[in-house]
Amino acid sequence: MKLGKKEIEGWLRIEDLEALKELWAKADEVRRENVGDEVHLRGLIEISNHCSRVCHYCGINAQNGKLSRYRLTLKEILDSARLAKRLGYGTVVLQSGEDPGISREWMREAVTAIKDETELAITLSLGERPTEDLLLWKQAGADRYLLKFETSDTDLYRRIHPPLPHRPLDRLDILRTLHNLGYEVGSGVMIGIPGQTYESLASDIELFCRLNLDMIGVGPYLPHPDTVLVRQPEKTPTPGQVPNTELMTYKVVALTRIICPWSNIPATTALASLNPDEGRILGLQRGANVVMPNLTPSRYRAQYEIYPAKACVSESSAVFDATLKQRILSIGRQIGRGPGSSRSP
Ligand code: SAH
Repeated sequence: MKLGKKEIEGWLRIEDLEALKELWAKADEVRRENVGDEVHLRGLIEISNHCSRVCHYCGINAQNGKLSRYRLTLKEILDSARLAKRLGYGTVVLQSGEDPGISREWMREAVTAIKDETELAITLSLGERPTEDLLLWKQAGADRYLLKFETSDTDLYRRIHPPLPHRPLDRLDILRTLHNLGYEVGSGVMIGIPGQTYESLASDIELFCRLNLDMIGVGPYLPHPDTVLVRQPEKTPTPGQVPNTELMTYKVVALTRIICPWSNIPATTALASLNPDEGRILGLQRGANVVMPNLTPSRYRAQYEIYPAKACVSESSAVFDATLKQRILSIGRQIGRGPGSSRSP
């Protein structure tokens, strides 16, 4: 199914559940034919909630004085990576706010230590870092980098993501740099950001294809009380505003799979936060092939509050793991083996 922008937008506007069954079935078929039945598990380690940025959507923004801040030690990170290995995962994802306390050299040590001991694939998601940092971490053994462009509408992006004065680079430039450095590159958007229209969301999905991404993460925008978007909302709603719903998220997951058949697409935690019982499984049945279980030490989890009521804040990693694997098998899928690298041609 070749889809143009108008057709993508058309599907995004369909609310009739019967009609949408065709979209789910097509996405599931394209997923099976291109990335198979394996569901790859990536252990997520939220290594720091310090952040120097003031993104208007994100709960760990620098202006949120209510949050107590933490940064894991090298030992804590290694312990979480060992847990990933014990649980049979092929990858760890190290994520954080944009934290100047994470130095280039310290991160190099962390990447080297994880690689030497566990041989796991390593994905970094540490925000907008200088090219020198990205290069050194690649040389140390990092395999992948995640940086969502959040929205392809440049006006909206500027409004919600104030740039740093000394670093005018935008995220699309950094995605190109990451490709050139040899990383597998991941990006994505939030669905239903105030000011996001159907047309701009359709453009986001088209852009995924043009960027030739290895990984694409999409999740609903979930309002956090200690952010500019909630404290200073727009007075008049945008005509054609996209809703930040579970259903809209499935549509974007399904369309993304159809447009980018080879990519690794997670059923995200943000989606599971809207439907803790079924969100991940329905995501997997509508185009996704990856889940990212949270392996952050439990005492820090609530502090990595990018949005409220995040799924899996209180669950033990081992209990979550057992339930998840059993559910994956129950829908006729398999647990991924090995690193689950991108099959992008
Ligand atoms: N600092 C890094 C990674 C941490 S945030 C970065 O900015 O890339 C990881 C992702 O969480 C963001 O890219 C964004 O898409 C998502 N996110 C942040 N705030 C959110 C919110 N309120 N609702 C839903 N997703 C959010």
